Amino acid sequence: MQKRVRVPYIVYAECIGCGVCVELCPTVFQLDDQAGYAIVINQGGAEPDIIQNAMDHCPTACIHWEEV
Ligand code: SF4
Repeated sequence: MQKRVRVPYIVYAECIGCGVCVELCPTVFQLDDQAGYAIVINQGGAEPDIIQNAMDHCPTACIHWEEV
């Protein structure tokens, strides 16, 4: 059986572009200044607990795990 991997994704419509996730985990998240929201630049760019910490501090809780 293939091992499933969890990767983070952002619900853009709920992101307010505050930059907290970028501050806490810049190797995974980056602000798209033109769009006004954060994007995932590297889904595997940090240890899961670092990504989870960014998720936990997102004020709108719009970062989620997705199994791929
Ligand atoms: S912490 Fe949440 S609301 Fe703030 S920029 Fe990141 S995804 Fe958007």
